[in-house]
Amino acid sequence: MSKNYIVGFPRIGEQRELKRVLEEFWAKKCSFEMVTKVASELKKRHWEYQRDAGAEFISSNDFSLYDNMLDTSVMLGAIPKRFANLVGEELYFAMARGNASSVAMEMTKWFNTNYHYIVPELSLDDEYLLNASKIVDEYNEAKTLGIKTKINIIGPITYLGLSKRADGGDVYELWGKILPIYEELLKAISRLDERITVQIDEPIFVKELDIKVLSLIKPTYDRLCAVSPNIKIAVVTYFEHSNEATKVLVHTPIWALGLDFLYGEENLKSLDIIAMSGKELIAGVVDGRNIWRCDIEKSVELLRDISNFVSKDRILISSSCSLLHIPFTIKYEEKMSGEIKEWLSFALEKLSEISLISKIFFEGECSLDEAQKSSLVNNRDANIKRRNSTLIHNKAVQERVNSHSKLQRDGDAKERLKLQREIFRYEDLVTTTIGSFPQTPELRRARSDFKAALISSDEYESEIKKYIDECVLFQEECGLEVLVHGEPERNDMVEYFGEQLNGYGFSQNGWVQSYGSRCVKPPFIYGDISRPRPMTIDWIAYAQSKTNKIMKGMLTGPVTILNWSFVRDDMPRGEVSKQIAVALSDEIDDLQRAGIKIIQVDEAAFKEGYPLRRAKIKIYEAWATRDFKIAVSSAKKETQIHTHMCYSEFNDIINTIEDMDADVISIETARSGNELLKIFKKVGYTKEVGPGVYDIHSPRIPSVEEIVKQIELLLEVLPKEQLWINPDCGLKTRKWEEVKPSLKNMVKAVKIVRAKLNV
Ligand code: GLN
Ligand code: ZN
Repeated sequence: MSKNYIVGFPRIGEQRELKRVLEEFWAKKCSFEMVTKVASELKKRHWEYQRDAGAEFISSNDFSLYDNMLDTSVMLGAIPKRFANLVGEELYFAMARGNASSVAMEMTKWFNTNYHYIVPELSLDDEYLLNASKIVDEYNEAKTLGIKTKINIIGPITYLGLSKRADGGDVYELWGKILPIYEELLKAISRLDERITVQIDEPIFVKELDIKVLSLIKPTYDRLCAVSPNIKIAVVTYFEHSNEATKVLVHTPIWALGLDFLYGEENLKSLDIIAMSGKELIAGVVDGRNIWRCDIEKSVELLRDISNFVSKDRILISSSCSLLHIPFTIKYEEKMSGEIKEWLSFALEKLSEISLISKIFFEGECSLDEAQKSSLVNNRDANIKRRNSTLIHNKAVQERVNSHSKLQRDGDAKERLKLQREIFRYEDLVTTTIGSFPQTPELRRARSDFKAALISSDEYESEIKKYIDECVLFQEECGLEVLVHGEPERNDMVEYFGEQLNGYGFSQNGWVQSYGSRCVKPPFIYGDISRPRPMTIDWIAYAQSKTNKIMKGMLTGPVTILNWSFVRDDMPRGEVSKQIAVALSDEIDDLQRAGIKIIQVDEAAFKEGYPLRRAKIKIYEAWATRDFKIAVSSAKKETQIHTHMCYSEFNDIINTIEDMDADVISIETARSGNELLKIFKKVGYTKEVGPGVYDIHSPRIPSVEEIVKQIELLLEVLPKEQLWINPDCGLKTRKWEEVKPSLKNMVKAVKIVRAKLNV
């Protein structure tokens, strides 16, 4: 007997086939039939992979042409009015991506992952209507192939919790309208087969829920379970523990409960009540969010602990969450060192791990045949080798990091800013940009040609320098006051640093879906991090040599580097981040020695690393702040430290921002006027702030008047002495034709405002 349960599987395709066909379709280079054809092939292949790996519970409806939350909105008929005249794929992709007449629906992060979902827009006067066709079709598609699936759906409480009300008001007011549609859906599902399993994902249960939401759980699941006796319902949660919800769910007629025992170890505390309830337990014991090869014996050990409470025959073995969040397979990795490759396991490899764990757990080691035995031996060897590898452990780094005693900069911000302003003599409302300038096709080509050794390093260097020259020249002509070099040498703000740090690895094909057809390929940290040589000094010093104005140096901060990488699992994240911080503090010291007076340390992903539970948030904030401060601790009082964050909602984290002690912070506020700046005033923030004065996400060029207005709004909140004027974020995704006039308008606007204020 083996009971393997796969929560969900990646859908983009091992060669990103889905991405390719979608983008061709959007570019009108192929038909929608072509998209459906590729999608069918992918689904088939993915089901077969899972079946061949011995999975007993394989999902349908975990596939999606864009996003599962969007699919759920379509299933419920929750279509915003502006799309009312559309149908079929035209409607679907317009909701996701917008069209000529309507803006797309909002997109936001799925819990603390880097996957983005389409935020449902609901309102009380909506009429909901079931559309079960995708779910029914996908089930039948698998059935025709001889594969009986469980059906995955996103649960009503999570769906509502992640929605927004177009008409204002509480999303849960719509519970009474949504639930009947879910009941109808289950009715439709019950007609598909004699016995059917439905997996209802309720990841919202891992958050701290208020009593109003908690009180919806029992009526929801009592009603859904009552729809049809031939449906078995499994409620699945992940990314954290869901102990509060578990207490309620055990008193509903659901068949099984899926829990994450890796990121929600506290779920262990619920084992006794689960045991008493007699429900099946889907035990997430293989890491679905990270890329390391599982330690099979450790997982079996964990399962044995679990089976001290819940009897073995009620346990199903699973990954901690859907495998959507990791790359497809390591089998196409040709460039990676053999030693490191041995340590990794992507989605396909995790399937075999789950099946091996299940064989050992259920059948016992002795009954294994030779083949299984050897893969266990393999697994054990790989894990021992990884633990002892010299690639991972670097004594010198460990000693240096442990003994690093400078935990913050000298002096307080007030004193530092006074000193800096005496030296720099910048005016109030000083203008700057966030760092990057347009990434042109020539630039991309130069970088890739250099990587492929098609051009020499001299040729490459002169290409980059040419860009810097032009970039500096433009900024001077435009009248910007604090300049940047434009980041032409960087493909990505994390990868660029990862490539130069020891302890970092890269895959060729490790793509993970971020949203729709967009994928990211996060680098991975496998070992102790150190900086063998300076990473940015040459470019930035060169740029400084081209101007008499201040050239701002540009680095990515420790927390962002960490949050946008896969991180080693043999060390707490905070320790890894501290190693990065120490390496960055050396870089900052080198920059200031090279004559760079202002250094920006970007923490674009600081907020997205926030844990889901309050108790863990405190711990995260403590080490994340500590490590930002360590990174900048080498900066002298005269060196001005900036940071940049890509969002504007600071209400919950303003104290943490204060603690980070940056002299200047630039943030994204253009789309919200001055609303979100108010918190800085409220807490009496005294350092300097650069709230974005125009949105860089769209190609439109802001007018002078509009920017003047925006600056005046900002001045209602903070005094001119405290404000910097800059765009919302980096300009790398824009074209020069957009950037040039926009920045010229920004500088003009500042002149107008200064004249009005008599600066
Ligand atoms: N310095 C980076 C840039 O300008 C910051 C990017 C970001 O915040 N995402 O591109
Ligand atoms: Zn940004």
